[in-house]
This record gives sequence, structure tokens and C-alpha cells, in this order.
Amino acid sequence: MNIQQEVMRIVFRAQEGTAPTQEECAFLLDLPEASFEAGFLKVAADSISRAKFRNQGILLGQIGIETAPCPGGCKFCSFGEDHTKFAKSQMPDDEILRRAMEFTVRGDLFALFLMTMHEFNFDHLLRVVAMVKKAVPQQVQIVVNIGDFDRVKADELRASGVNGAYHVLRLREGIDTKLSPEMRVATIQTIRDAGLDFYYCCEPIGPEHTAQEMVDQIFVGIEMGCFQHAAMRRVFVPSSPLAHHGQITERRLAQVVAVVSLATMNVTETQSIAVHEPNLLGLVAGANTVYAETGANPRDTAAETSGHRGLDMHACREMLYEAGFDSLLFGDRTTQQLNHISASM
Ligand code: SF4
Repeated sequence: MNIQQEVMRIVFRAQEGTAPTQEECAFLLDLPEASFEAGFLKVAADSISRAKFRNQGILLGQIGIETAPCPGGCKFCSFGEDHTKFAKSQMPDDEILRRAMEFTVRGDLFALFLMTMHEFNFDHLLRVVAMVKKAVPQQVQIVVNIGDFDRVKADELRASGVNGAYHVLRLREGIDTKLSPEMRVATIQTIRDAGLDFYYCCEPIGPEHTAQEMVDQIFVGIEMGCFQHAAMRRVFVPSSPLAHHGQITERRLAQVVAVVSLATMNVTETQSIAVHEPNLLGLVAGANTVYAETGANPRDTAAETSGHRGLDMHACREMLYEAGFDSLLFGDRTTQQLNHISASM
């Protein structure tokens, strides 16, 4: 097979409206990172994605409201119970509110994410949701990033004003984690059945993951109708059991972003593509969304990620501008022009 011709064929067909098959996605993921073909793929995905999303960028913000040695035991996460250095702690209400206000003071956040460990106090979460919802502007959606939950809880979350949930069948779930893959998928189905927006991601990508593993994982999100798809690399956490594998580059991550964006191009439910952590290479390869983060972060060994791994709203807004997005989309579907002045304020 002539590799260059095959990439051209897949990409030009995508430009005409046909998404790559699973087999073609595996082929694209296997392209050498430094090749002309990988570069061509990223440029094409960028152009197709910008047309689909009207060149609108999206800012999301996440607050990790607690830390604990987590029974999820994920070997890539700084909270995994067998290797963590974190003690149990809960962010006080006034601190959550202060951070929520920091995220929303400019009024340009699409959604605020509240993150817990795998096990969490549901009543406390509902109370925090109600408190935050009352404090932030109406156009800001609320999304939860929590452990597995059932339909009763999903309905309660929805009734309390939660718009969506981030939930992922991770790469090597059940092998590199102590969690049940079946339970993860059941929770995703619950999210869909309850009418919540389902946020998904190809994560946490390391150098050891094969193209086929990634394709299998990416297509779970596609087949289950994700509202947002994304790609996230596993960050090198020195104390984690997977640290010896190292970390992929942002350039390689951008290649995965490109494949995710082409694979989802005809999925009507998929309204945006994110890249974690925020980086410019992903934003010019098909992603249009970045997350600002504060508080606890599974990719960080510091209890406070802002000023460490997590970028603040200002840095994320500037990054979207530098990536060439000309407006921001808000949670109520209104937009605002993104220019040098509004991005740098
Ligand atoms: S990734 Fe989530 S479930 Fe896994 S150990 Fe970390 S906090 Fe727990």
C-alpha cells in the first residue's frame, strides 16, 4: 500500500463528508508521529473540525472539590489508594464558591465541572451543586465528574440542575484500574438514559497503548453518542505505577485529537472536541475546547493544581485566541467575539 495515497484517500473522503472507519482510524493512529502524512492528517482535521464547529472555541472549568486515597486505584492517577500521598480532605464551601466565581466572573465559561473521587458523598455533592448553581451566571452549565452512579442518582442530579456528566471507559480499564469496565459502561448508559450530556475522552494515553486499543476505546464514546469527545495523554506522575512507561508528546496527542475529530465528524450528538491538558498543538488538529482547572487534579501531585499543572481561565482564553478561534460559545448557546483585546483582559 502507498501510505501517502491511502492517507490522502481517507482525508479527501472525510472532506466530502465520510468519516474514517475503525480500521482506517487505526491506520491513521499508526502513522509515524514525525511523518508528512501525520502532519497532513492534523491540518485536514483542523480544517474539517473548524467548519463543523463554526470556528467557535469553548472554555470549560473544573474544580476538584475533594481528595482522598481513592479505591479506584488507577495506576496512572495521583489519588490511587495504593500509591497516593494525598490524605482525605474536602474543599470548604466558601472556597468552592470563590473558585466558581473566579471561573465565571467574565461570563464566558460554557460549563463548570465539579470533580470528586470514585466514592463520594452524594448528598454533599447535591448541596454543592445547588450552592454553585445559585452563584454562577445562568448561562453556565453544571457538569459532574464523579464515580459510577445509578439511574435514581442520575435523575436527582438532573433535577438539581446538572446538565451533564464526564464518564469514560478508560484505556485498559479493569487492568490499570480496579474498576469494573461493565459498571463504567452501565453508568454511561445511565447518563444517556437520564438525558444528561455525556462527556467522553480517549484517555489516559501512554506510549504503550496500541492503535487498536485506542480505536476500541474511542468508538465506545462514538457508539454511545457522546456530547463531547476528547483526547488526553497520561501525565508522568513519578510516584505512579505506570511512570516507567513515560509520556507521549503533545505532537502525538495532537495526532490522536485529529483521529478523534474525524471519527466523530458525523456524530450528531458530538458538539465539541477537547484536548487535555490544554495545548496549542491539539487546538490546531481538530480540538476546539480546553479546560481550566483548580483544586484537586488526578494528573498532579500538588493539592492545588492552578499555578501548577492546571491553567487558569486567562491562559486558556488566550490559547484559544492564539489557536485562531474567532468566538467563544457559552452554555446558553450565545457567542462572543474572541479578539486580541478580549482574550488578553
Ligand atoms: S482516576 Fe478517578 S477513579 Fe481513578 S484513582 Fe483517580 S480519582 Fe480514583
